[in-house]
Parts: sequence; structure tokens; C-alpha cells
Amino acid sequence: MAKRLKRLKIQKPGGEARIEKNVLLLRAFHRDLAAWFARAGRDLPWRRTGDPYAIALSEFMLQQTQVVTVLPYYHRWLRLFPDWAALAAAPTEAVLKAWEGLGYYTRARNFHRLAQAVAASPEGELPATVEGLRALPGIGPYTAGAIASLAFGQRAALIDGNVIRVFTRVFGIGEDVAGKEMQARLWALAEGLLPGAAACAVHNSALMELGALICTPRNPGCLLCPVAAVCEARRLGTPERFPVKGKKTVERREEEIALIEKKGRYWCVPGPARGRLAGFWRFPDFDAAAMRGGGAVAEFDYSITRYRVRMRGRRASFLKGEPEAGRWCSPEEMEALPMPSAHRKMRGYLLEKNWEKEKAV
Ligand code: SF4
Repeated sequence: MAKRLKRLKIQKPGGEARIEKNVLLLRAFHRDLAAWFARAGRDLPWRRTGDPYAIALSEFMLQQTQVVTVLPYYHRWLRLFPDWAALAAAPTEAVLKAWEGLGYYTRARNFHRLAQAVAASPEGELPATVEGLRALPGIGPYTAGAIASLAFGQRAALIDGNVIRVFTRVFGIGEDVAGKEMQARLWALAEGLLPGAAACAVHNSALMELGALICTPRNPGCLLCPVAAVCEARRLGTPERFPVKGKKTVERREEEIALIEKKGRYWCVPGPARGRLAGFWRFPDFDAAAMRGGGAVAEFDYSITRYRVRMRGRRASFLKGEPEAGRWCSPEEMEALPMPSAHRKMRGYLLEKNWEKEKAV
């Protein structure tokens, strides 16, 4: 198998077309991967259900987030919003509150929008095909492939970070994986490697699981790997060199928020109607034209997308009266409000009355 699989190595664009001709080789690849998955794959709740809603939920939650973090959120979410109709009818604040702590809130908003679209459709359920799924809000190529194959048993490909790591190592792909052209080639490779529809869910799950458990970014467990015999990166002895990723530039930003107190309560404002902070409550930005500023209560760093943000909370008071949009909340009352993580952390300082400035995170 090893010798034949080497022919699958991507040398130039278009080379992937040869893959489909290696039928015997692919069968062996599928068989070894599936046997390993049956033996070593984790018993996860979304693998035990055929409910497309629960499977779609897990796919949204697992983007950028580890399984161990997702598990309690997944169970709680299904208790709060057991199906598309229940989620569609829920107010945005309740949805964001249930997602609070998982981060990347766009996923929660997208899943909510998806529920509203599904609940309003004549079928009241997700379509089974990749094309039908892609036409819905919030579903990109990965999620469409995952739902189509895992929930509906369709022959649909997917690539995520784990799968890309496995592919680049097995096939020795030493080019930057971020480019559009390389992404298209990786998708073509995923499609070329697909088994028949009946085996597709296991194949896709096994590839992702291999990347999560064995073919990890650091110290991959090549000795336990079901495809080690055919892996180019292992042959070269340099698995950690793959995948090649261009350097991300991180931008620094500063954010100053106003902690305005009245009888143990703090002025909180709703987020804007649209965008990343829509639906949240937060402390207001410090506005020198409308506020008198005092000393810093706490400051810390947090990361969001490509930004590293220095957040500073200052004591402040209004120069004139309080504005219309907003309300006074005690730190305890804020518990019931959806708040972005950095503002929730600032609330923690107020709750503890820890007025010492944190040096850095
Ligand atoms: S042999 Fe090692 S590097 Fe290659 S796919 Fe397996 S775990 Fe990854």
C-alpha cells in the first residue's frame, strides 16, 4: 500500500485526478482508517444521535473549540432549546447567554438564524444535500459537508484544521495551506479520497479524529497511527513541519471602558443593533466629551480574531445626566445578562472589589 499511496502525493495542481484511479489503494486506506476509528474513536454524544439538529449544533460549537469545552454547553443547550422551533422562538439575549463562555459568538447568531430559516421552511428540517445546506444562513463548505455526511449519510467531503494537518503530512504537502488555490486542492483531495456514501460518515469522522487524537500539532503519535506506513511526513522524520502556514500579523489595540457607579450599581449599555456586539450588554466606552474619568480599576489583555486588545476599566461619572439607552446593574444582576467575555471579566473585578490593577494576562 505504501508504495502505491506515494503516487497520490500532490506534486502540482491537477495531480489529484490520479487518486480516483487507485481504487484498491483507497480501499485499504479507508479500511485501516475505519478500523482504527472503531477501536479508538471517542464515544461522543453527537456520534450517538441521528438528530440533524443535535449534529448541526455540535458542528457549530466545535468550530475553533475543543470537545472537552463543548460537552457541557452541548448538553445544556439541548435542554434549553431541544429543537429548531424552540431555538427559533428564543430571544437573542437568551441564545447569547446560553453560548456565553464559548466565544466566537458569530456562531451562536448564525445558528440562531439557521434555526429561524429552518423553522420557517415548509419541511421544518434541514435539507439533506450539500447544495441545499449551503443555501441556508451560516452554513459554509465545512459545515455543509459535515452535516450532509454525518446527519444524512450523503457522500460529502469536508476539510477542517485537523484534516488539513493529516493530509499535508500523509501527502507531504509543503506549501502554505492558507492560499485559495491550495484550499481548492485540499478540497479536491478530500473529495478524491471519499468512500461510498454508506462509509462516508465514518471516513470523515475518522479523519478528524485522527487529527485530534494522534496526528496532533506537536508530538504526533506516529507509532499508533493507522496510516503511518504511507505517511510522507513520517518517512521524512519531520511531521511537525506540516502544515506550512504563513505568519499571521497580530495588531495591538486599546479599549477603555467606563465603570460608572451609583449605589453599588454600574451603568450598562446594550450593544449596537448589528455586528459582533449585537444582543449583548456591556460597560460603555469611556467618552471624554460626556464623562469625567478617574483612575484605572483593572486592565488586562485579551485576543479577538487578529487583534490583541489591552482593555482598561476606569472609574468615571457622567458630566451631565445619564443617557437614555442603558440601565443600572449590580455585578450580581449582570449575571443574568449576556456579556462579552472581556466585560464579564471586568465584572469579576467589580464583584471581588479587587481594585488592584492586573499587570498583564
Ligand atoms: S504517521 Fe504521524 S504524521 Fe503521519 S499521519 Fe500518522 S500521526 Fe500524522
